[in-house]
Amino acid sequence: MDTTAESEVTGLCRDLLRIDTTNTGDQRTTVGERAAAEYVAEKLGEVGIESRLLESAPKRANLIARIPGADPSRGALLVHGHLDVVPADASEWSVPPFSGEEKDGYLWGRGAVDMKDFDAMVLSVVREWKRTGYVPPRDIVLAYTADEEAGMEYGSQWLVRNHPDEFEGCTEAIGEVGGYSYTVNDDLRLYLVQTAEKGLDWLRLHATGRPGHGSFIHDDNAVTALAEAVARVGRHRFPTIVTPTVRAFLEQVSEACEIELDPDEPELAVAKLGPIANLIGATLRNTANPTRLEAGYKDNVIPGRASATIDCRTLPGHADAFLRELRDVIGPDLEIEHVHQQPAVETSFDGALVDAMGAALRAEDPGARTVPYLMSGGTDAKAFATLGIRCFGFAPLRLPPDLNFSALFHGIDERVPVEGLKFGVRVLDRLLRNS
Ligand SMILES: [Zn+2]
Repeated sequence: MDTTAESEVTGLCRDLLRIDTTNTGDQRTTVGERAAAEYVAEKLGEVGIESRLLESAPKRANLIARIPGADPSRGALLVHGHLDVVPADASEWSVPPFSGEEKDGYLWGRGAVDMKDFDAMVLSVVREWKRTGYVPPRDIVLAYTADEEAGMEYGSQWLVRNHPDEFEGCTEAIGEVGGYSYTVNDDLRLYLVQTAEKGLDWLRLHATGRPGHGSFIHDDNAVTALAEAVARVGRHRFPTIVTPTVRAFLEQVSEACEIELDPDEPELAVAKLGPIANLIGATLRNTANPTRLEAGYKDNVIPGRASATIDCRTLPGHADAFLRELRDVIGPDLEIEHVHQQPAVETSFDGALVDAMGAALRAEDPGARTVPYLMSGGTDAKAFATLGIRCFGFAPLRLPPDLNFSALFHGIDERVPVEGLKFGVRVLDRLLRNS
């Protein structure tokens, strides 16, 4: 039987895709994570790697394993992936979303790129190591987490609060979202490595007024006050701010692609980027998008209270200034409640691990060039960064030039190229051996 990492990875990924780990955000209906964690534990156990399942709530399982390295005095590397996925509506898909079907050179299924692909790559690499007796240069800590897709409270956030000792000695981490190729031309592919994430601040605005009958003249209406504030927030454009990561991104892409990208004119620069403009556009400024409204209970009753949710995303180092500006836009009369907050994270794009990422990619793709980027969304890195770990998004994949990759995240017909998976295994193996 062929048991190399490269030959195994597709099967492992398919198995994981077939375990429905939908995270609905509701405790009662989020039930698949335990089965996926048990699957990973079994596959590790098969080759003799011990792991522990840590359950934050019934069926909300996280898995931790430590692979001892040759030099225990060195800091450990955390390699993490979440096992949950966002829901998929089967009626919208070309294949059943939990079938793990392989066709047209792709493995299809919810989680194929977010992020059971990487989960499987890691699993296949460490299984091969253990089978062949290979010992990595330093400790590798594996973390397979629950609940990344709905706030991380049962996953990484819970782990760092309740089991920080599991991450003892970890100095750096790799996980999603980065390491994917963006083809510039035949000889040049940019691999975007995530070094920073915007912060998240879900706010609820509350307007209060005088309740009353809908048929009367009424000048203290909570719904009107709320609607005005929400409209102002929704239309407000926060100023562009070029953070160190975005500056590095623009400078390096400018050099690599030989196009003029002036970091001091970030919007013009990003407009020249083509398909990756999408990814970068939201990282030039703080954003505040109204997402929910709640008011009233009867057509002819003016309620005393009206509420709205605003999804705010803040640049590293700019959360306080953002809140002051937002307060100005909202005005003094509405109450602001912080529902859920996660600070931004940022690390620099340098050091031996970063060099090893570039070297591993170039060994498998001579046209590879790594570029740091700031991500507008959030990942488990937010939790692990609170332990002082430098976090990178590096889940390597070489992608076909015409694939609209970012649309596959949480998208319909999510799929991963089989060749990309194998490429990822080779790069990951090289990186971990040389880190
Ligand atoms: Zn993800």
